[in-house]
Amino acid sequence: MKDQLLARIDSKRADLIDLTRALVQIPSVNPPGDGYQACCDLLSRRLKQRGFDVSYHRAEGTPGDSERYPRINLVATRPGARSGPCVHFNSHIDVVEPGVGWSYDPFGAEQVGSRIYGRGTCDMKGGLAASIIAIEALIEIAPDHPGTIEISGTADEETGGFGGVAYLAGIGLLAAPRVDHVIIPEPLNKDRICLGHRGVWWTEIETHGRIAHGSMPFLGDCAVRHMQAVMAEFESTLFPYLATKTTTMPVVPDGAKQSTLNINSIHGGLGEQFDGLPSPLVPDSCRMVIDRRFLIEEAIEDVKAEVKSLLDGLTKSRRGFTYHLNDLFEVIPTMTDQNAPVVRAVHSAVEEVLGQQPTYVVSPGTYDQKHFDRIGLLKDCIAYGPGILDLAHQVDEYVDIVDMLDSAKVMALACANLLGVER
Ligand SMILES: [Zn+2]
Repeated sequence: MKDQLLARIDSKRADLIDLTRALVQIPSVNPPGDGYQACCDLLSRRLKQRGFDVSYHRAEGTPGDSERYPRINLVATRPGARSGPCVHFNSHIDVVEPGVGWSYDPFGAEQVGSRIYGRGTCDMKGGLAASIIAIEALIEIAPDHPGTIEISGTADEETGGFGGVAYLAGIGLLAAPRVDHVIIPEPLNKDRICLGHRGVWWTEIETHGRIAHGSMPFLGDCAVRHMQAVMAEFESTLFPYLATKTTTMPVVPDGAKQSTLNINSIHGGLGEQFDGLPSPLVPDSCRMVIDRRFLIEEAIEDVKAEVKSLLDGLTKSRRGFTYHLNDLFEVIPTMTDQNAPVVRAVHSAVEEVLGQQPTYVVSPGTYDQKHFDRIGLLKDCIAYGPGILDLAHQVDEYVDIVDMLDSAKVMALACANLLGVER
C-alpha cells in the first residue's frame, strides 16, 4: 500500500499545482473577509466529485460577519466502509493583505521553477491543496478504508478564528468526540511537527490626565507623561524580568523561548485625522495596547498581575496617576503530548518519507489549535504542513512544489495509520 500511495501522490503533481494556483487566485483577503464563498465553492465542487458530503456553515453574528462579507466555512466528510476514527484536516482559507513591494502578482500564483508565488501560497493554501491531494490519493488506493476522513476550509484564522474554527467547535462539529485526530497544515516546514503555541494576553492600558490650555500645562495633567512613566517601568523592571523566564516548550525561533511583550500602539492627546493645525491642549487620555506572549509555565492570572502591580505601584508613587485596563483578547498556551496518537503517526510518516526524525516545535504565535483545544475539547491536534514559516505574511511569499508533495505523502501515510488502513 505504502509504495502505491506515494507513487500515486507523485502522479498528481500537475493536479496539485493547478489546485494550489486556483486557490491562490481567489483573493480571500481578511480583513475584510473577502472570497470565502468562492473558495468554498471551489473546494465543494472538487470534493463532491470524490464522494464527500459537503456542508456550508455561515458563522452568523461573529466579528466581521455581514451580508457583504459572510463568514462561510466548509466541512467535507467521507465515511469509510466501516466504523473507525475520524481524521480531520483543517485549513484556513483567509489570507492577509499582500502589502506593497511584490516582484510577482500577489494573486497571480505564478510558477517559477519549483515555486509558486503569491499571497497565501505558504500560509496556507499550499498546505490545504497538499492535504486534499493526500486524502484523494489515499481514497483511490484504499477506497474501503475504515473510519472517516474530513477536510474543512475555515474563515478568519488571521483575525482570531471566531468566525471559523471557534464557531464550528462551538456547534460541536470540529469537536470531540465527533472528531478524533486533527492535522492543521500550517506552514511549519515539512520536517517539523508543531505541538502547540504560547499564550496571549492583549490589553489596553489607559492613563488619565486633565485637559487644559497647552500654554499653561501646569494647570492640567498630562496623560502622555503618565504613560511615559509606565514605559519607564517597563524598561527598568518588566522587560528584564520577562527575559529571565524560561520554558520547556520547544518554541521557535529561539528569541521566543522566553516571555515577550510588544507595545502594539500608543495614542495620546488630540487625534491626527484632520488637515489643519492642532489646538493647544494638555492630553487627558493616553492609551497603549500591549501584546504579552506567555509560556505554559506561567498562569494568565500571574501574567496580568505583573502588569497590574506595576501600575498600582505608580498609583502610589506618582502624583495624579490613575489608569484603566481594558482586556481585549486572551489565549491560554497549549501543547499536545509528544506521545499523542497524531504526533506518533506524523512522526513515523516523516521518518518514512524524508528519512529523518522530525523536530518538535511550538509556535511563537497562536493559530486555530487553540479553539480545537479550548472549545472543541479535542487534544489530539497538531500543525504539520509544507511551506517555510518565515515566509508567512511576507512580500514574495511562495511555496515549494516538492515540499508540498513530500508533506502530502506524510499526511497520507499518517492518515492511513490513524484510520487503521492495512499496509
Ligand atoms: Zn496560517
